[in-house]
Amino acid sequence: MSVSDSNPKEMICISCPIGCRLTVSQDQDKNITVTGNKCARGKVYGEEEYLAPKRMLTCTCRTDSQEFPRLPVRTLSAIPIEYIDDLLRELYRMTVALPVKRGQPLIENYRGTGVDVLASMSLDDHGR
Ligand code: SF4
Repeated sequence: MSVSDSNPKEMICISCPIGCRLTVSQDQDKNITVTGNKCARGKVYGEEEYLAPKRMLTCTCRTDSQEFPRLPVRTLSAIPIEYIDDLLRELYRMTVALPVKRGQPLIENYRGTGVDVLASMSLDDHGR
């Protein structure tokens, strides 16, 4: 690591079960250096996590059913971290009308991120 490297970050690569410990830093010319990765996927992960971290989101939404009041939902792809709090608030405010099919989009292209939120399971008033 050179003297010009700023704000090195330590992180675990979660792209595979090995879980390499990465050190990611950026020099004054904005070049990103990733060390500790055993493969190229770790370099990509480290760069993305340093510059624009994203996460998958899972939670539950209220339904209009008294018998099955919560529906598990998830994002189809990872969403930028800065959107997660607002998306969670929106999902906690929502009421999903049953029946719903597994994979049914509940929110499409959330705030232009390209990320959809889907139902994680099929559910009707009989719990199927
Ligand atoms: S760097 Fe490669 S080998 Fe290491 S955890 Fe990431 S994907 Fe797996």
